[in-house]
Amino acid sequence: MERPPVIHKDAGSQRLLPNWTEYDEERRRFSWGKARLALQGLPGGGLNIGFEAVDRHAGGVLRYQTALRFVRRDAPALELTYADLARQTNRFANVLQSLGVGKGDRLFLLAGRIPELYVALLGALKNGTVVTPLFSAFGPEPIATRIQLGSGQVLVTTDALYQRKVRQMRAQMPSLRHVLLVAEDGGVTDEPDTLDLATLMAAASDNFTTVETSEDDPALLHFTSGTTGTPKGALHVHGAAVAHEATARYALDLHRHDRYWCTADPGWVTGTSYGIIAPLLQGVTSLVDCEEFDAERWYTLLAQEHVTVWYTAPTAIRMLMKGGPEPVRHHRYPCLRFVASVGEPLNPEAVWWGQEVLGLPIHDNWWQTETGGIMIANTPAFDIKPGSMGRPLPGIDAYIVEHLEAEGEAPRVRVIDTPDVEGELALKRGWPSMFRGYLNNEARYAKCFAGDLYLTGDLARRDADGYFWFVGRADDVIKSAGHLIGPFEVESALMEHPAVAEAGVIGKPDPMVGEVVKAFVSLKSGFEPSETLRLDISAHARRRLGAAVAPKEIAFLAVLPRTRSGKIMRRLLKARELGLPEGDTSTLESGA
Ligand code: AMP
Repeated sequence: MERPPVIHKDAGSQRLLPNWTEYDEERRRFSWGKARLALQGLPGGGLNIGFEAVDRHAGGVLRYQTALRFVRRDAPALELTYADLARQTNRFANVLQSLGVGKGDRLFLLAGRIPELYVALLGALKNGTVVTPLFSAFGPEPIATRIQLGSGQVLVTTDALYQRKVRQMRAQMPSLRHVLLVAEDGGVTDEPDTLDLATLMAAASDNFTTVETSEDDPALLHFTSGTTGTPKGALHVHGAAVAHEATARYALDLHRHDRYWCTADPGWVTGTSYGIIAPLLQGVTSLVDCEEFDAERWYTLLAQEHVTVWYTAPTAIRMLMKGGPEPVRHHRYPCLRFVASVGEPLNPEAVWWGQEVLGLPIHDNWWQTETGGIMIANTPAFDIKPGSMGRPLPGIDAYIVEHLEAEGEAPRVRVIDTPDVEGELALKRGWPSMFRGYLNNEARYAKCFAGDLYLTGDLARRDADGYFWFVGRADDVIKSAGHLIGPFEVESALMEHPAVAEAGVIGKPDPMVGEVVKAFVSLKSGFEPSETLRLDISAHARRRLGAAVAPKEIAFLAVLPRTRSGKIMRRLLKARELGLPEGDTSTLESGA
C-alpha cells in the first residue's frame, strides 16, 4: 500500500481537544517564567518536586483521585489516591528524619515497580534528600559502583534483591549507613545493619512539612554511561519540575482526567521523569504494571484499564508488531487517545503500525538523561513525518553543529544552517530540567558545552521544515532495548575473569532491541578458546553485571585492535563485525 509522506495532525483520536494545535504561535508565546506559574511553589517561595507532585493535589480537588494504580498478575490492583500518597510520603520523610537523613543526603532505590519505591522517591524529595533510582535488573557490580560513586547513605530495596545483589558487596559501600528493606511475600528481615521499612513506616507520623528547597537545589542523581570510565552521575534540580509539567502537556498531551500508562521502569530516567513525576504534576491517574512485558497482557491492560495516553518504547512496539495484528484485535481501545514513544529510533513502520492497527499514530520523541525532560517531539500541533523525532518543544532551541576544535581542545562549534546536513545535535542551554553537573567531574561537564550550546553526543540532521532526524551516536555507547550501556563497564567486568586478557565491547545492530552487546575477548596465556570457556565467561558477566547489561555474544580474538597509545579500537571491531569499511586505521598498532 502506498503511504503518504506525513500523517496529518488530525489523523488520531478526535475525542478531546489537544492541549495545543499551533506550533509556531505557541513557541512565540512561551516562556519558562510563564510555565513556572502552573506550579504552586512552597509557602516560603521555594520549589519542591515532591510537594508539587503530591501535596499540591492532596490539598485540593484531586484529593480523592487515584494517583497511582498498581496492577499485578495474581493479586488485586492496589490504588493510592493523592491523599494516600501525601500521607505515605509524609511517613517516609519522617522515617528519614528519624534516621538523621536530611537535605542534600543521598538515597538510592533498588526495587521493581512496587508502591514502596514510588513512596520512597517522593517522600525523599519532600525531605530534600537526593534520590538515585537503580535498575533492579542490574547485577551487583553496577549497583555497588553507583552507590560508591554517589556516596549513597540510604538504600531502599527488597529482601530478595538485598540478598542476591547487595549484601556481598556491602564492604565496598562504606558510605551506606542505612538499608531499608521491603519484606516482599511477608518475608522476615533479620539482617544485621538493615531495617524493616514497614515497621519504620508504621511508627512514623502522617504529618510532615516539606523541607524548603529552591529551584536550584539538587533533587535527583541519574547515572548514565559514557564511552570511557565509570558511569557519570547527572545531577538534576527541583526546578526540573517546571519542564516536566510543561513537556507532559506538549509532548504527551496529558489532560487532568487521563488514565496514563508509561511502560518505562523507574530505574531509568524515563520511568522517573515521565513514569512518576510528570503525570503526578499533571494530576492524572497513572497505571503501573508490576509485571514484565507480555504482549497479550499489554493489549488487555490498554483496553481494560481504559488507558487514554500511552508512553512506551520502540523495542516494546517492535515486540508487539512481531505478534502480528491479530492479538491487537482481540480487544477494542475506545479510550486510547494519544500514543508516544522514546529511547531509540522509532522505525517509520512502527509509526504506521500504530495508525493502522490502533487507529492512532505513534509520536516519537527524543531526550536523554542529561536533558531531564523531552526536548524534541512529535506532538498534536503538527503533522508527523514517520521516522523523524519531531520538532523542538516550546522553550527549546535545537541546532545541528559541526566541531571546529582540534583534538584535545575545548569544544568550539559552528551552527550548520543548511538543511539536511548531518552534524551533532545541540541545544541552547537554559531549560529548567537541564542537568547541573556530573557528580565529581567538572571537567567532563565542561566538555558538554560550547558557549551557550549543550552538545548532546547524538548525530542528527534537520530538514527544511524544522523536523529533526536521528542519525546515530557520536560515541561508542550502546542502546539495547532502550537501555544505555557503557562499553567500559562491560569490558571491566569481563577482565575480572581469570582467563580474559583484554576485552572490547560494541553494540551490534539487532532488528528487535536496536543493539545487542557483543564482546570480543583475547585470552591470557595458558587459556585456549573453547565453548566451555565462552559459557563460563558469559556466566561470569551475567553474575557481575546482570542480564540487562551482560554481553549476549562473546567472540575470541587472538589480539584486539588497539591504537598505538593502547586504546582498544571499538570502531574497528564494529566495522569488521558488520563488514563495513575500516576507515582511518593510521593509529592502529601493527599486527592487530
Ligand atoms: P538515556 O540517557 O539513557 O535516556 O539515552 C539517551 C539516548 O537515547 C539519546 O542520546 C539517543 O542516543 C537515544 N534516544 C533517545 N530517544 C531517541 C529517539 N526518539 N530516537 C533516537 N534515539 C533516541
